[in-house]
Amino acid sequence: MSHLRTQFPFFRQHPELVYFDSAATAQVPQTVVDAITDYYIRAKVNVHRSGYRLASQLTDRFEQVRSDVATYINAPSARQIVFTYGTTDGFNLLAQALSSRLKAGDEIILTEAEHHANLVPWQQLAHKLGLVLRWIPVDKHGAIQWQQLDSLLSQRTRLVCFAHASNTLGAYAPIKTLVAKIHAVGALCIVDGAQAIAHCQVDVQAMDCDAYLFSGHKLYGPTGVGVLYAREGLLDDAAVYRSGGEMVQQVAKSHSEFQPMPLKYEAGTPNISAVLGLGAAIAWCRDNLTDAIFAHEQQIYRDLRQGLSARAGIELVGEDTDGVPLILFKSAQLHPQDLALALDAQNICVRTGKHCAMVLHDALHSDGLVRLSVAAYNNRQDVERFFSALDRALTIEDDDMALPTAQLPEL
Ligand code: PMP
Repeated sequence: MSHLRTQFPFFRQHPELVYFDSAATAQVPQTVVDAITDYYIRAKVNVHRSGYRLASQLTDRFEQVRSDVATYINAPSARQIVFTYGTTDGFNLLAQALSSRLKAGDEIILTEAEHHANLVPWQQLAHKLGLVLRWIPVDKHGAIQWQQLDSLLSQRTRLVCFAHASNTLGAYAPIKTLVAKIHAVGALCIVDGAQAIAHCQVDVQAMDCDAYLFSGHKLYGPTGVGVLYAREGLLDDAAVYRSGGEMVQQVAKSHSEFQPMPLKYEAGTPNISAVLGLGAAIAWCRDNLTDAIFAHEQQIYRDLRQGLSARAGIELVGEDTDGVPLILFKSAQLHPQDLALALDAQNICVRTGKHCAMVLHDALHSDGLVRLSVAAYNNRQDVERFFSALDRALTIEDDDMALPTAQLPEL
């Protein structure tokens, strides 16, 4: 969609690049850059502290972002929105906060497709407290075997944590069905929204999940900020995470009393410019991410899948879904790393490796794959340029790996 693309300064700076790595991080519209620079130029004061007018105006603007995020994901109130430093930080927060409710022998269910952010913190907690991790498997085609949840759930299950859509397989989890089963045994349902948030309308009340997490930088916003939505009451009596200034109401030599949600989980000076940038990103998404744009992304996804499946020696991995528009593949001729290098030499940006999902790659017996991920600003020319670069890469001989590297301006 060309009217969208022109709003992203990155593409003006880099007309030479084809960017199919938005699942790693999405580009930002000019309005996000403006919100960040505006803070540094016009309002570089702290929030929630000083009483002078500029500081209280800035605090209002900061808190308005919290309300806007709540509205965007249909959370009942801004009280339930905690600003984190990203999805990974949010999972570490949750693991720490919920630790006070868990004891040896309690079980946490994950899928084999989880990103390390929704795996390693639970694994660490399991080692510390003697918890048991149980796994919903992935079949050899990359389909998560959701029906196995029934036999894994029991009175010992405390948490079930999974991605709304994984960063490798793309399909949306059948959240409503899963949540009903999870709640029936009295467990909590924690959803990693890092990938899904930019590609569908998220409604946390309709999902009925207990927590939903995402990062600003995958939602056309800045790095260094994320969101943890926690159901009303979930974290009120939970353990604190980072402690220090601003998350306390009273501090004496022997003990402290903490702020209520959400400030209890926002110790120290937050990443103010990034929160304001996230506010601009949310406004941009609200105004631009229509069903027509989601359909446009799906069309690019289909064109890429079709073109790849028509090429000899290319194997697509993972189901063809109408989920998040990302594609995994490998080539019979070239190692994924070599293929990615040959594409990079032609200014095509893709992700390769194990995509922070090593348990999934073990399940698929894979030692690495190439990933293409699509966002609202990708267009038909990106697809054509990708395939002409791919065809060129696939015809190079082993002893002729060195394609002439295209010019890339130095940073
Ligand atoms: N979960 C998923 C599904 C992701 O794709 C990512 C980022 N690749 C994360 C969690 C972690 O996000 P961040 O690196 O922004 O903390």
